[in-house]
Amino acid sequence: MQNYIIVVCSKCGGYLLAKNEQKTRTCPYCGLKILLRKALKVASVGNAEEASVLLRRLKEENAAKKRKLGFKGDFKKSHKPYSK
Ligand SMILES: [Zn+2]
Repeated sequence: MQNYIIVVCSKCGGYLLAKNEQKTRTCPYCGLKILLRKALKVASVGNAEEASVLLRRLKEENAAKKRKLGFKGDFKKSHKPYSK
């Protein structure tokens, strides 16, 4: 049985864990009260342990994406066309 869901906060984009039977959840990052019925659900999981593992992975993926973007910026900067 899938007791927990992971949703994305519509305001700050943070991932948060909620119980399936909950109607609302307050975002721990920005304090927004999220209607779970309307929220973007990324996963549903069977137990809290599974959920925390998944949450951690999602956050790591997010951080990796950000690192990649940062690298792109640096790459551009270091490859400016030469001025004669
Ligand atoms: Zn938020």
